Amino acid sequence: MKERKFIPVAEPELKGKELEYVVRCIETGWVSSMGEFVEKFEEEFAKFCQAKYAVSTANGTVALHLALAGLGIGPKDEVIVPSLTFVATANAVVYTGAKPVFADSEAETWNIDPAEIEKKITKRTRAIIPVHLYGHPANMGPIIELAGKYNLYVIEDAAEAHGAEYKERKVGGIGKVGCFSFYGNKIITTGEGGMVVTNDKKLAERMRFLKDHAMSKERRYYHPEIGFNYRLTNIQAALGVAQLERVDNFIERKRKIASYYNELLTGTPGIVLPPEENWAKNVYWMYSVLVTENSKLTRDELAKRLKEQGIDSRPFFYPIHKMPPYDKGERLPVAERLSQQGINLPSSVKLSRTDVERVAEAIKSSVA
Ligand SMILES: *Cc1c(COP(=O)(O)O)cnc(C)c1O
Repeated sequence: MKERKFIPVAEPELKGKELEYVVRCIETGWVSSMGEFVEKFEEEFAKFCQAKYAVSTANGTVALHLALAGLGIGPKDEVIVPSLTFVATANAVVYTGAKPVFADSEAETWNIDPAEIEKKITKRTRAIIPVHLYGHPANMGPIIELAGKYNLYVIEDAAEAHGAEYKERKVGGIGKVGCFSFYGNKIITTGEGGMVVTNDKKLAERMRFLKDHAMSKERRYYHPEIGFNYRLTNIQAALGVAQLERVDNFIERKRKIASYYNELLTGTPGIVLPPEENWAKNVYWMYSVLVTENSKLTRDELAKRLKEQGIDSRPFFYPIHKMPPYDKGERLPVAERLSQQGINLPSSVKLSRTDVERVAEAIKSSVA
C-alpha cells in the first residue's frame, strides 16, 4: 500500500509577502522593536478588529497580563475565567497577584456560561475573561450585561478567534479590551507574538507605557513605575502584516474545511459536531468534535486509531481547576465532561477535501 502522508493538526501557511517583508527588515537593519512594520501591523490589526487602538506584545500570554495590569487589577482582586481554556488565561491573572475564579462552561457553545459567572461574582470581582474557545465566540451579550450590572471589566481572550463574530461584531473589540496570540498554530502567526485591542485611548496609552519598561515620555530612562518588556519585533510584525493580508482567505478556507467535516460527519453515532449559534460566526481555529458515550470508543482510543492512520489530533484542554496549582476540589461538571470528550481534528488551511475525507472516514470506521 502506498505510504500516506501525515496530516498534522495545524500548520502555518507563509506563502504571501512574508519573505519579502522579513528580507526588508534585514536589509534595512530594522530587526528590533522599532520600525515600519510594528506600527503598520498595529494599525491594520485594529482595523481588522473594528477597534480604535491596538498595542502589539511579545506573545498572547503577556497580552493578557498587560491588559490586566493596564486596568489596575492586582492583589485582593478576583477575575472570573472559564476553566476550559488554555492555562495562560488563568496564569495571567495570577501574575498580577489577583485570584482567578473558575466558572463552568455552556454545554452548547463550550464557552463560559453567563449564568455560572453570576454565581461567582463577589465584592472582590473586578473582571471577567470570556475566551472564544477554538474559534466560536462566547455569548457576549449576557456577559456585557452582567459586567454593566456589577461594574466589571470584560477582557476578551480572543487568542483562538481572530475574525470570529458575535452578532456581526468582531471579537476582541466588544469588551473593554481584547487579547490575541500569533503563536505558530494560531489563525495568523508571527512565530511568537500578541496584540491587545481597545477603544479606550487612555487604556491603550497606559498599556503602551507599561509594555516598554514604563519609561517616562518626557524624561528618557526615568521610570516612575515598574513596567515590562513585552515588545514585538519588527521582523515578527513583518510576518504579521503579510499574514494579515491573507487573514480573510484563511478564515474562508477554515470555514470551508468545517463545512466538509460537518457534511461528512453528520449522523455519525457518538460524534457531536462543533457549535455555531445563530448569533455567531465560528472561525473554526480548531475543528473539534465530542466523542460521547454512544461511541464505540473513548476520545483517547479514537485519537490512537487516528494516529495509527497517520492523522494527528489533540485532546481538549485539561480543566484548569483540576490542575495542581489551582485544584481546590471544586467540581465544574460541564467543563470536565467537555474536556474528556473533546478532540481537535486536523484544521490547517492547507487541508484539501481529500484530506478531510480521509479523516472523516477514519473516524466513521473507528466509532461505528
Ligand atoms: C494561545 C493562547 C494563549 C496564549 O498565547 P501565547 O501567544 O501562546 O502566549 C492564551 N489564551 C488562549 C485561549 C490561547 O489559545
